[in-house]
Amino acid sequence: MERVHNFCAGPCTLPLTVVEELSDELVNFQGSGMSLIEMSHRDPVYDAVHHETMDLLRRLCAVPDDFSVLLLQGGASLQFGMVPMNLLATDGGEVRRGGWVISGSWAKKAYADAQLVSDGAYAAWSGADEDFTRMPSADELDIVDDSRFLHFTSNETIGGIRVPEFYDLDVRLVADMSSDFLTRPIPWDGFDLVYGGAQKNLGPAGLTVVFVRDSVLAEAPKAIPSYLRYDTHAGADSLANTPPVFAIWATGKVLRWIEANGGIEGMEARAAERSSMVYDAIDGSSGFYTNPVDKACRSHTNVVFTLATPELDAAFLSEAEANGLANLKGHRSVGGVRASIYNALPTESVTALVDFMGHFAAANG
Ligand SMILES: *Cc1c(COP(=O)(O)O)cnc(C)c1O
Repeated sequence: MERVHNFCAGPCTLPLTVVEELSDELVNFQGSGMSLIEMSHRDPVYDAVHHETMDLLRRLCAVPDDFSVLLLQGGASLQFGMVPMNLLATDGGEVRRGGWVISGSWAKKAYADAQLVSDGAYAAWSGADEDFTRMPSADELDIVDDSRFLHFTSNETIGGIRVPEFYDLDVRLVADMSSDFLTRPIPWDGFDLVYGGAQKNLGPAGLTVVFVRDSVLAEAPKAIPSYLRYDTHAGADSLANTPPVFAIWATGKVLRWIEANGGIEGMEARAAERSSMVYDAIDGSSGFYTNPVDKACRSHTNVVFTLATPELDAAFLSEAEANGLANLKGHRSVGGVRASIYNALPTESVTALVDFMGHFAAANG
């Protein structure tokens, strides 16, 4: 069967070799007589898979020794609440301050949850007045004295904007890297915590990866439910409860594929090059296609564009679909077209999109 060119924003395309291996190994895992997804998560066979995924994450992301790697559930969305619960609240009732960079749809959601959880949450910058078309520079941020951290979204998946260079500030950093995870190195010194759902760049849905500095674990309040405490998971190698075994297994395979394809530096170069192919097609179309984002902040993983009218957008999308280019519709909140170009999307898919954009513009321009 033909695979389509799948530009889905999440869950994402996985390497074909990974999907095939999963299929081949599904019924009888390593001669155990059962599938990995039917096995006890306390079984040594599963344990090896679990720790390999953790080790690969640590190695590929060059995670320092004084950080824990956590394999959680609940998506990046649950982190919107867990971060302020663990880092802003205290058992003594002290209200610590934390700043949020409001850079688009995901940051808004993160901030909304933080406000529910803590009176200490404040907006350090908002791009709402500019329709979320860029990220702030460091000197535009309003950081309150004694802030515990600054939370930012390194790549806004819906708006197609990214932080071009990570901030170097006096305040500790916390980042939602859901949609550019494993596409750029993390300068760890400034960070206390980094999180992301696996389904954008790393694997299937169901797994959330958190990297947390160990010094953060001790300060978390004890008066929150145990699953929501980072130290519960750090102290149990993310086996405090039943982990999402399928997603962890599959993610391990994708991480091995990333390692074999140049690691994080390879993925970074690949993301820059492939997103440029689409931006070049947009910029070279004499205005037939337009991208609203400040050029320096254009996402390397989610390329958004619109045509002259919503009718043309719709015609583009249906013709693209008929030509085997799937899931190009922009998020329902903004419309237009969005091509998500995550790590495992084959370069042929990007070439096919750029070719199609040329033909469509020639026929309709
Ligand atoms: C997709 C996404 C989320 C939400 O992720 P879930 O895993 O579905 O909860 C949060 N932040 C960003 C930047 C995202 O792209």
